[in-house]
Amino acid sequence: MNSELVRRLAEDGTLSDAGFAELLGTDAYDAALFAEADRVRRREYGDAVFLRGLIEVSSYCKNDCYYCGIRRSNKDASRYRLDEEDILACCAAGHELGFRTFVLQGGEDPGFTDGKVVSVVSKIRNRWPDSAVTLSLGEKSRASYQAYFDAGAERYLLRHEAADRELYESLHPSFMSWENRIRCLYDLRDIGYAVGAGMMVGPPRQTAAHLIADLRLLEDLRPHMIGIGPYMTHSGTPFAGEPNGSLPMTLRLLAVLRLMFPQALIPATTALGTIHPEGREMGLKAGANVIMPNLSPADVRKKYLLYDNKITAGPESAYNPSLLAARVEKAGYRVVLTRGDPKGWKE
Ligand code: SAM
Repeated sequence: MNSELVRRLAEDGTLSDAGFAELLGTDAYDAALFAEADRVRRREYGDAVFLRGLIEVSSYCKNDCYYCGIRRSNKDASRYRLDEEDILACCAAGHELGFRTFVLQGGEDPGFTDGKVVSVVSKIRNRWPDSAVTLSLGEKSRASYQAYFDAGAERYLLRHEAADRELYESLHPSFMSWENRIRCLYDLRDIGYAVGAGMMVGPPRQTAAHLIADLRLLEDLRPHMIGIGPYMTHSGTPFAGEPNGSLPMTLRLLAVLRLMFPQALIPATTALGTIHPEGREMGLKAGANVIMPNLSPADVRKKYLLYDNKITAGPESAYNPSLLAARVEKAGYRVVLTRGDPKGWKE
């Protein structure tokens, strides 16, 4: 009985708003939902968990998102910017460890100019032509996205954050615009990137209806990658007094996303690993199939503090690949270090 709704979601890839509300509003479907999500991920990608080397290139940010620890108004945040040599050294170490995707993520740092992005992307692609470059540098003009793409970046992660404009506006200052965020995503898709979108689960004021609106936006955008994780409180932000997002709701949504987008690459995020010591493993079992361990230099890792207690050591570090591999295997999967392009991209 509890599996009927899950079966319908798996078959049709979608549900009515009422169906989604029913599925998300209770734990009654969880066992059937997670089992079905796991079946679909194994059908599409087997037991593979794709590893990506994450390099956090800058903690400077001109934006002021109310939830984020590196927002410009957080005067206590430590700021750093990696230079090209630092980034290439991380890639060299990562390549040696077997990584074949490098994710350059950072705050919206005007000092990390388009010229610098283009230069470092072309150097990475020239030195390691077998490797993919993913960027996650925030909102840019279409011309900038095109320049990065022409330099060899093929994937871009930009969470839409909130499909509902009012919710978006309650999470961001008025100089940031929902339209621009959405414009960026469609530009990226149009240019030919493999695009990643997504949202936090459980930031202040988010309701189930907001999450269903997120699912509808994703249905329209059809991203190749979908990153979701629990909202995590940072004590230096306007949301300091707000509770963390919910782990069970995040897992439920991961499974729903796997059934809606069988071919998507879906990470078990750092936030998931922070909210619970086995959060990543739980995420994998709910349908996630990517992990992005941290390749940033050790001395800056603690400075990219998006939320309190963000994990950086142990299996979180890209420099401990056997530790991570062992945990992934214990969960019933296998780490894979190939480029692992998303299915459906370029088709
Ligand atoms: N500046 C780029 C951007 O806006 O896409 C990339 C860096 S930004 C810090 C990456 C993601 O971190 C955001 O999309 C947001 O969803 C997530 N994030 C920021 N603060 C967070 C928090 N307190 N809890 C959970 N996730 C958070």
